[in-house]
Amino acid sequence: MLFSRSGVFDSLQRKQFYNMKLIYTHENRFLVYNIQNIVENAHIATTLKNEYASSAAGDLVPHETWLELWVVEDDDYRLAMTAIDTAFKQGSPIEWVCQQCSERNTASFDVCWQCQTERPD
Ligand SMILES: [Zn+2]
Repeated sequence: MLFSRSGVFDSLQRKQFYNMKLIYTHENRFLVYNIQNIVENAHIATTLKNEYASSAAGDLVPHETWLELWVVEDDDYRLAMTAIDTAFKQGSPIEWVCQQCSERNTASFDVCWQCQTERPD
């Protein structure tokens, strides 16, 4: 009895998440948004989880509430990872330095991953 119940639960879980894959998560939400930008620029549909889970005070949030970036279609997972990889590789020689906090950002980021200040022209 117990065995068959867990079997049903298992198949429901699989059905729900069948086409979705987690591609990126980080305690810094801005970084996740930047990654989402890169992936969506490659015409890959994404969705965010835990988007409204952060604390109002801006404290570090527990790992379970980190913003998560998922690809909607399982098949896009590899493409998404390639897009991220390419963006970081391209970005490394021409990275820019944030005027606000002096953090280094890759070229593909339009806003600073640290403080979300816009990239200078
Ligand atoms: Zn900054």
